[in-house]
Amino acid sequence: MSRLRSLGRGLVSGATRFAADARDLIFPPHCPGCGAARDPRSAGELCDPCRRDLPLPEAWLCPGCGIAGTGGAGAFCPGCRGRCAPDAVIHAAAYAGTARELVRRFKYRADFTAGRLLGRLLAERVAAALPGGVDLLVPVPLHRRRLGARGFNQAALIARDVGRRLVTRVDLAALARGRDTRTLAGLHPEERASELAGAFAARRPERIAGLRVLVCDDVLTTGTTAEGCCRALKDAGAVWAGIAVAARVLLPLAHRERHAALPEDA
Ligand SMILES: [Zn+2]
Ligand SMILES: [Zn+2]
Repeated sequence: MSRLRSLGRGLVSGATRFAADARDLIFPPHCPGCGAARDPRSAGELCDPCRRDLPLPEAWLCPGCGIAGTGGAGAFCPGCRGRCAPDAVIHAAAYAGTARELVRRFKYRADFTAGRLLGRLLAERVAAALPGGVDLLVPVPLHRRRLGARGFNQAALIARDVGRRLVTRVDLAALARGRDTRTLAGLHPEERASELAGAFAARRPERIAGLRVLVCDDVLTTGTTAEGCCRALKDAGAVWAGIAVAARVLLPLAHRERHAALPEDA
């Protein structure tokens, strides 16, 4: 029985790999930003107009208020430190221009060339922001229903890419998502934010305790998901918990509550 089950698992992972290869075939060498055909030698690289339109992260500003300098990328200023669960919020690009196109192509069209570029940009940014590295990378878990509809968790693919490039361990199943947060749409923004923040939990706290853990995701909008994941990791005993996203919608902390009704990680 267990042999049958493991055979079944092998077939499933083989089928997933095949599906990924087939999807890569649908997208011959192209610019992952706009889809324009490219020479195979520059496969996976942005064309010149897309490169010019890639918004770089703002330099060394506090991710909470977006105003104060902190001396370190992703670190909070003294005024914001301690107000939120994450110890750092690192982003590779602002969610605009080419970065937004890359996220859309990756997520909604399964363009894995765009996903790999996002992973590479984020790995470079994390390496610069956290020269000491972290012990573990974990993706924001996708709700089962959405995973079924999309076929892949974009956060897991980004975490795997960052882990491979930075030679850091990745635990794809470290965090669990309790409920489908789409059902919270009718709630007051503040209720919704606190429900969302409580929607995550560490599956095996003993595997998190004492570690420096970096959560990976594609987009950060209001920060509620980041808050929930980092809080769950700290409840499990993580000594440090930060979040790294490929693209960030730039909203100062003071505006975040007002924008709590924005779609988070749709
Ligand atoms: Zn392009
Ligand atoms: Zn600040």
